[in-house]
Amino acid sequence: MYDILDISLAPSGRDKIDWVRDNMPLLRSYEEEFSKTRPFEGIRLALSIHLEAKTAYLCKVLLAGGAEMFVTGSNPLSTQDDVAAALVHQGMHVFAVHGASPEEYEQDLRRVLEIGPDLIVDDGGDATLLLHLGCRAEKDPSAIAKPTCEEEKALFATIAARIKRRPGWFARAAAAVRGVSEETTTGVHRLYQLEAKGELLFPAVNVNDSVTKSKFDNIYGCRESLVDGIKRATDVMLAGKNAFVCGYGDVGKGCAESLRENHCRVRVSEVDPICALQACMAGFDVGTVEDALKWANLFVTTTGNVDIITAEHMAKMRDRTIVCNIGHFDDEIQVARLMSWPGVKRTNIKPQVDKFTFPDGHSIYLLAEGRLVNLGCATGHPGFVMSNSFTNQCLAQMKLWKERASAKPQVVRLPKELDEEVARLHLAACGAKLTKLTKRQADYIGVNVNGPFKPDYYRY
Ligand code: NAD
Ligand code: SAH
Repeated sequence: MYDILDISLAPSGRDKIDWVRDNMPLLRSYEEEFSKTRPFEGIRLALSIHLEAKTAYLCKVLLAGGAEMFVTGSNPLSTQDDVAAALVHQGMHVFAVHGASPEEYEQDLRRVLEIGPDLIVDDGGDATLLLHLGCRAEKDPSAIAKPTCEEEKALFATIAARIKRRPGWFARAAAAVRGVSEETTTGVHRLYQLEAKGELLFPAVNVNDSVTKSKFDNIYGCRESLVDGIKRATDVMLAGKNAFVCGYGDVGKGCAESLRENHCRVRVSEVDPICALQACMAGFDVGTVEDALKWANLFVTTTGNVDIITAEHMAKMRDRTIVCNIGHFDDEIQVARLMSWPGVKRTNIKPQVDKFTFPDGHSIYLLAEGRLVNLGCATGHPGFVMSNSFTNQCLAQMKLWKERASAKPQVVRLPKELDEEVARLHLAACGAKLTKLTKRQADYIGVNVNGPFKPDYYRY
């Protein structure tokens, strides 16, 4: 089963996957191991994750482990049609088309869940949300009565149609799921919120907070892919620009550093005094968006929060300011309000680059329609860092499956031993040589000679 743009694009997708494979060393060794041990034999695995070449390689590795694969993209702008075709060619069920509308996106998501997956890999929590909200709506239709945006309208309509056609389907599908592993910060926040309310329906692994994920992908990945996205979209010279980064968490740290490395003057904003002080210690000015409106000519949001750059802010920005988001969704920048701002004129410069001209004559340039600029305007993080993230995904899926009989519906992280192992096995590719603790040294600092080397409360 598949619903993609064009199956004849498969050879180009296959070449891209082969190319990234060489840069994902640990995932590559898992492919070899899985093809012998087949840990996922007979399991139905649903993935909702950026459908580009590095994710496609993760899919191939899980397929090698014996899983039947059902794949959709977690963001229509990052979906690559040739890669989707290559996965179909490999024998996977793929439902994803680049640029899908909110309605098509929700339909594709429903279709990968339709078969009743045993396990889910989610990125941002949309698959988890669809199942949880569907279950709530089966009991209480008012849960899907009042959509607040286009995406919710599409989500609620998908749920309502399914309940009408197959009453009780959501409860049955959710009951069959043995667990979900979640890739990103915002998806993990949602899982903990469900757990706190006692509403989490199946076990979950927080992959994001493995150190080898959030302290690598979120920081070092964004440190490379933010500028890649901005440059591919705009061709601008970054040196000499005044850049403003909203949020100085993991993603913000990588973004601010990369803009400085490209010789921008960089300011950041924060609500958390600890992160704000970290920014000061790293030599960044800390201020507010409002104070920077007449200073900055590039704004980047990284907060995973809403209403960070409002339509009012954009109405007051300097002419030709570039505005983009690398956080979670298009409500970090008020895109819907920008589109309906009285008298604003939208000019599409090229795919994922839109100029909005305000009635006073000034314009701003919005990248990737306010969605993730590194995945909408470029191809996301490089393979090496995704090899770390996706090895954690493989470990999480193995854990969920192995412990399926006893696991409770709660959010857990992977053990530190595995985190250290993921790092250890990537060292050779960097030409690094680890120092080995002596027994006396290990006893002195109170750890085992072979690790873990840090207590759980250590923050890296
Ligand atoms: P984080 O919690 O480490 O950082 C977010 C920071 O934003 C926090 O320090 C928080 O205090 C700050 N913040 C919140 N509201 C703010 C406001 N109104 N003004 C200024 N600062 C504010 O999270 P993270 O791991 O950095 O992830 C951030 C977002 O990026 C999440 O949505 C995550 O899912 C996403 N993400 C994207 C990519 C990508 O490749 N595009 C990669 C990793 C994570
Ligand atoms: N639903 C959200 C998904 C958040 S994506 C959306 O609007 O798109 C944030 C995640 O993208 C990060 O946690 C990171 O692990 C992942 N990512 C970054 N580069 C990637 C790449 N090249 N391939 C696949 N995923 C990538």
